[in-house]
Amino acid sequence: SGDPPPAEDISVDDVFIAVKTTKKFHQSRLKLLLDTWISRNAQQTYVFTDGEDEELKKKIGSHAVNTNCSAAHSRQALSCKMAVEYDKFIESGKKWFCHVDDDNYVNGRALVKHLSQYQHTQDMYIGKPSLDRPIEATERLGDNKMKPVNFWFATGGAGFCVSRGLALKMSPWASGGHFMNTAEKIRLPDDCTIGYIIESVLGVRLTRSNLFHSHLENLQQVTRSEIPKQITLSYGMFENKSNIISLKGAFSVEDDPSRFKSVHCLLYPDTPWCPPQVAF
Ligand code: UDP
Ligand code: MN
Repeated sequence: SGDPPPAEDISVDDVFIAVKTTKKFHQSRLKLLLDTWISRNAQQTYVFTDGEDEELKKKIGSHAVNTNCSAAHSRQALSCKMAVEYDKFIESGKKWFCHVDDDNYVNGRALVKHLSQYQHTQDMYIGKPSLDRPIEATERLGDNKMKPVNFWFATGGAGFCVSRGLALKMSPWASGGHFMNTAEKIRLPDDCTIGYIIESVLGVRLTRSNLFHSHLENLQQVTRSEIPKQITLSYGMFENKSNIISLKGAFSVEDDPSRFKSVHCLLYPDTPWCPPQVAF
C-alpha cells in the first residue's frame, strides 16, 4: 500500500486515551463506549468525569478518574478536566496523549498505525481544526494590557493527540494549576487553550488529519470501506439535523442510533454480541 514505513514501532500500550465525560452522560453516552471500543482498549483508556459512580468503578476501577471538577458546562469546569487529563498522562509515562469526547468512537488499530508514522520524541500535535481559519483571540497580559493572537487548534470533539516530547514542553503552561491560568488568560475553551499553548506559546504547528471526525462535519461522507482507516468517529446534531455515519450494518438505526454498535461489529466481528458474519 501507499503507507509510509513506521518511524517508530509502537503498540496501543504506548497510547494514553483520555475520555472526557460528565456524570449525567454515564448512562446515555459512556456505557455505549464501554460496550464497544473501550472494551478493546481497556488498559489504555481513562475516563475523566465529575461525579462518583459505583457501577463505573466496578467496571473499570482506577481507570475512572473523578476530577472533582464542577459538573457545569463552563469554560472553567472543562479546563479543569483537561488539566487533570494532562497531569495523568504525564504521570503515566506513555508516549502519546490522545483526548476524545464521550460521543467519539476510537479505532485503536487506526490510531496506532497513524501515530507510528511519527516519533513520540518529535513535537507532534495531530487533529482536525473545526474552523477554516485560525482563531482570533486576545491574550491578557496583566496591567490591563491585551495582545491579539491567532492560532489553529484541533477541535476536541474530533479528538486529538500530542506526543510526549511536546507534552513535556507544555508543562509550564499546562501542568498542575497552570492550565486553568492559561485558559483564563485567553478566555477560550479547553481545546483552544491546548492550541494556544502549542501554536502560540511554543511555536509548533498543528498537523492536520482527516481521519479524526466530529459531529460538526457531515458524517454521511464517511463510507463503509473507509471506516477501518478512520481514527475517530462521532454522532450528534449538525445544523439541527441528526448527523450519523451512514452504515447498513449489524443493527438498525432504531437499535443503534449512534451507529457505534454497527461500526464496532464491522471492525471486531468476533464480538460475542455481534450477529454472525453474513453479508450485510
Ligand atoms: N461535558 C462535560 N460537562 C458538561 C457538558 C459536557 O464534561 O457539563 C463534556 C461531554 O461529556 C463531552 C464534551 O464535554 O465529552 C462535549 O459535550 P457535548 O458533546 O454535549 O457538546 P458539543 O460541544 O459537542 O456540542
Ligand atoms: Mn459533542
